[in-house]
Amino acid sequence: MAGEFRIGSHKVHRIEEWQGGFAPPEALFAEYEASAFGGHVSAFEPDFLRDGLIYGYLQSWLIDTGEETVLVDTGAGNGKSRPGIPIFGDLESDFLTRLGEAGFAPEDIDKVFCTHLHIDHVGWNTQLVDGEWKPTFPNALYFFPDLDEQAWNPDKEIYPSLGGAAVNANVFEDSVAPVIASGQARLIESGHSIADGMTAFASPGHTPGHMVLQVEADGDVALFTGDILHHPMQVLRPDWNSVYCEDRATAAATRRKVLEQAADQHARIVPAHFGAPHSVFVERDGDGFRPIYR
Ligand SMILES: [Zn+2]
Repeated sequence: MAGEFRIGSHKVHRIEEWQGGFAPPEALFAEYEASAFGGHVSAFEPDFLRDGLIYGYLQSWLIDTGEETVLVDTGAGNGKSRPGIPIFGDLESDFLTRLGEAGFAPEDIDKVFCTHLHIDHVGWNTQLVDGEWKPTFPNALYFFPDLDEQAWNPDKEIYPSLGGAAVNANVFEDSVAPVIASGQARLIESGHSIADGMTAFASPGHTPGHMVLQVEADGDVALFTGDILHHPMQVLRPDWNSVYCEDRATAAATRRKVLEQAADQHARIVPAHFGAPHSVFVERDGDGFRPIYR
């Protein structure tokens, strides 16, 4: 599927779940300014903007090292009740067929890493079997940020005032708790190595526990950045948050730090929702950054 790339000898597959116009830019960006966005409209069309709507994807990334397979983020999933965001509720997508087309059965996945525990990053963690939510990947260890488990577990209420609580209704219960109950989950802290050359780092702001997965192989570096960036406009303007970022000042500081790291290391940034070509390199440009697609 389009969007594949390599990190050294590792092969990375893109497994698409959904694509479409998501929202007008003024509804996605908390700090939207028409005058700043307007100059980029023709550059964003059609891959990142169509018919006045931000164009985006739900997609998972599958890293195949030849030794093991690591699936990064798991979309929205099928058949899930999502009263807070109906566009991603009761989906019946052919995600698992596309995984098969890439050459993998659910049994082949060794590890699953969720950058954070939002609705569109944990859905395929589970599927409905005989009326119960069961882990989709029976042989996988699942890695979840410990701080996000604390944030979203309704029994813990560490952050009782999360703005995304309504959008994330049911998500912990049907897509996270069953994996923990199965014994397949590991709750991790910043600096945790999930595989050889793959380290998860705290990247807070979008959610309290959001993590970036840094993958190094044969001198190449890729940063799987989840929702640090939803759109290339945020490369140009790192101070622009999505309306789903819980702590906007922290999210903006994290975004700038990740962009600086990517520029300095010539690392490929691999977000969860970017349009084609679905990942991006960046260079410093004055106070901000410039996206480079290759
Ligand atoms: Zn997301």
